[in-house]
Amino acid sequence: MNGNDFRSSFDGRSIVVTGGARGQGAAEVELLAREGARVFIGDLMEDVGGALAERLRGEGLKVEFVKLDVTQRDSWLALAEQVKAADETLWGLINNAGIAVPGRIELVTEDAFARSMDVNALGAMLGIQVLAPLMTEGGSIINVGSVAATIAHTNVVYGAAKWALRGISKSAAVDLARYGIRVNMIHPGYISTEINANGDPRFFETHLKLTPQGRAGTVHEIARVARFLLSDDSSYVTGVEIPVDGGFTTHGGAKPVFDAIGPAVEA
Ligand code: NDP
Repeated sequence: MNGNDFRSSFDGRSIVVTGGARGQGAAEVELLAREGARVFIGDLMEDVGGALAERLRGEGLKVEFVKLDVTQRDSWLALAEQVKAADETLWGLINNAGIAVPGRIELVTEDAFARSMDVNALGAMLGIQVLAPLMTEGGSIINVGSVAATIAHTNVVYGAAKWALRGISKSAAVDLARYGIRVNMIHPGYISTEINANGDPRFFETHLKLTPQGRAGTVHEIARVARFLLSDDSSYVTGVEIPVDGGFTTHGGAKPVFDAIGPAVEA
C-alpha cells in the first residue's frame, strides 16, 4: 500500500463482528458503523442484536443483524451469502464471540472442554475459512483472545481454547498474507461485561489488584484498538497480539514487588 491508497474511514467497507449483539462486540459494531462501515452483527441473540441494528439504522448507519452460531459451518455459509448479496466483498472480520463455561481443572467435563473449544477456537477458524475467500486485498481479521491466552488461567477450558485460538491466528496470519489479508489478536484484560456476570468476586478483585493501571478496561478501549487493527493505519501489521489489559500481563508477577518497594521519591 502506498500513501495514495490510504483511507482514513471505513466508507464502502463491510465488516462482520461475531458476538456483536452486546459487550465488546456491540461497542465495535457501533464505532465501526459510525466511521462508515457496513457492519454485520453475527450473534445468537436475535432480539438484542436485532434491536441494536435497528437503533443504529435509525441513525442512518449501515448495520444488519444476521443470526449466527459460530460453531456451525452452515451458519457461516448463510452469513457469507448475506454479505455477498449486500456487498460482494468483505473488508474485515472480528472473531469476538466467546464463552466462559466453568472449568477448574479438577472438575472439567468432556462436554465443557468441547463446548469451550467449539465456540472460542473452532468458531473463529470456521469464520476465517468461510469468509476469507470473500475478503479483498488489505482486509483484516481480528481474533479476540484474552490474557488467558498468554498465561496460566484458573479456568483451564477457557485458557486452553484461547491458547488454541492463538495458534490458529499465527498460522492464518502467515497463510493469508499471500492474499494481502492480515490476521491479528487482541487480548483483553478484565472488562465488565456479561461474560463475567457470574464470576467469582475473589478472581476479579485479585485480578484488579494485579493490574498496574488499577481498574477494569472498558468496551470502548477494546473497540478503539480493533478499529486500529482493521484500518489502513495498521497495513503492515500482521500476526501480532495486543494485550489491552492495563498492564496485567506485562509485570509477570512482579507487581507486588513494585508495590512493596513503593515510589522512589515520596510525594
Ligand atoms: P459477552 O458475553 O458480553 O459477549 C459475548 C458474545 O458472544 C455474546 O453476545 C454471546 O451471545 C456471543 N456468543 C457466544 N456464543 C456464540 C455462538 N456460538 N455464536 C455466536 N455468538 C456467540 O462478553 P464480552 O463482550 O466481554 O466478550 C467478547 C470476547 O472477549 C470474548 O471472546 C471473550 O472471551 C473475550 N474476553 C473477555 C474478557 C472480559 O473480561 N470481558 C476478558 C478477555 C477476553 P450469547 O449470550 O447468546 O451466547
